[in-house]
Amino acid sequence: MTFQFTNLYSALGEKFFAPLDPDGLQNPEFVILNKDALSLIDLNPSSVNEEQVLHLLSGSYLPEGSSPLAMVYSGHQFGGYSPQLGDGRGILLGQIRNTRGELWDLHLKGAGKTPFSRMGDGRAVLRSCIREFLASEALFHLGIPTTRALSVVTSDEPVRRETIERASMLMRLSNSHIRFGSFEYFSYTEQYGALKTLADYTIENHFPELKSTENPYDQLLITAATKTASLIAQWQAYGFAHGVMNTDNMSIIGQTFDFGPFGFMEKYDPYYICNHSDDRGRYAFNNQPSIGLWNSQALAQALTPLTGNDAGTIMIKKYKDTYKTTYQTLMNEKLGLGPITSGDQSLTEEILDLLEGYSVDYTNFFRELSHVDEKSDEFFFPRLQSCAVEFKSWFSRYIDRLKHNQSDQLTRHKSMCAINPKYILRNYLAQLAIQKSEQGDHSELNKLYEILKNPYGEQPEHEQYASEAPDWAQSLQISCSS
Ligand code: AMP
Ligand code: MG
Repeated sequence: MTFQFTNLYSALGEKFFAPLDPDGLQNPEFVILNKDALSLIDLNPSSVNEEQVLHLLSGSYLPEGSSPLAMVYSGHQFGGYSPQLGDGRGILLGQIRNTRGELWDLHLKGAGKTPFSRMGDGRAVLRSCIREFLASEALFHLGIPTTRALSVVTSDEPVRRETIERASMLMRLSNSHIRFGSFEYFSYTEQYGALKTLADYTIENHFPELKSTENPYDQLLITAATKTASLIAQWQAYGFAHGVMNTDNMSIIGQTFDFGPFGFMEKYDPYYICNHSDDRGRYAFNNQPSIGLWNSQALAQALTPLTGNDAGTIMIKKYKDTYKTTYQTLMNEKLGLGPITSGDQSLTEEILDLLEGYSVDYTNFFRELSHVDEKSDEFFFPRLQSCAVEFKSWFSRYIDRLKHNQSDQLTRHKSMCAINPKYILRNYLAQLAIQKSEQGDHSELNKLYEILKNPYGEQPEHEQYASEAPDWAQSLQISCSS
């Protein structure tokens, strides 16, 4: 097994990181390996040496050419500035440019203490690694920008959280681990030369098309913000709540990044707070779009030494426009309405109000809506019979609106099924898989992962995985420790 590392980030110099080897896990064992993702770093799943891969993924084998390091950054956490964060338990093992020319960071989470660990132990627990693995792969297969997960490996090394748990590691793959907070760190410490170096690196490697623009730094800000707006519009349309949108968890390339107490919404609730230590609901579901803008303004502030006077103003306008258009376009697709017309926004808002009022499962509602036949006036939803009267007026306006579309019922059904998933990562499904894995049985995890790889397909043999949370899981609280 050979790797061709291209360590561009480590070439920036030690202002940007602390060089450091991972602290490998003793007696490592595979929990899950994402064979599809091996090809991203040019490994062939059928010919890898599993033993060697296990040691790579548990931090005890460092391939020649890697240059392990902990990245430095800072960030705004829950609105307050934390001047010194950095990878406290993650190590960037190195970067590989694959044969398709893509640059991939190999980042091992839970890799031991670093100079940025503060009071932490540098480790990650099994449940949080599994949650990140499932969430990032579920989002990827839904088509939402995200970091990827290559593997979870566990061990018998004890770590203390609310109870004693198993030290585990997740191998995260991404084209970039640069965060909004990476720029904030150099700006707030007044290292403007390094700030420029980081901006140049980001443009060169992630947005090369900006090099030829009149002011590449303005465009870097605007591009990062519009990518963020587009990402958050997708979260809102799919019902995904991130939970910890601190600026150190915001990817400069606009991917979903750093999974903690996230949640895929079940019953539609705009005030949904998945992070139960978020007392004031700063990161509640319906606040995500405005927090994305707040974070983009923090990035604008950090980039001020490099940008022109009106970059921030242009960025705000572009963010808002991108968010609004992307969100309504997606909602139109979910509703099967085609291009946006004047009444579509209110038609969307009204159905969301109804779903909220009657606690309807967001994902299943839209999937069922794809079966509606506009030629029939009958109220269609078996599950909503008890509140059919309340939905009736909306439903008849919806049918009228559908009649303005050119497409026939079968075409609409197919296109709606291609955007309204049947299978999402419901909290209770993740929890059941975690409980089994914690007992050493990873079959449920592997099965759930396979199901989530095909979220839009019908999988009759797995129908129950599309069910709403059973009663016992309604009040499931996810621990925020990780
Ligand atoms: P997160 O909430 O995972 O985004 O982490 C916020 C910050 O805390 C980052 O700088 C992490 O590296 C650090 N951190 C989180 N957990 C640990 C841990 N167990 N040991 C050391 N640092 C940690
Ligand atoms: Mg983080």
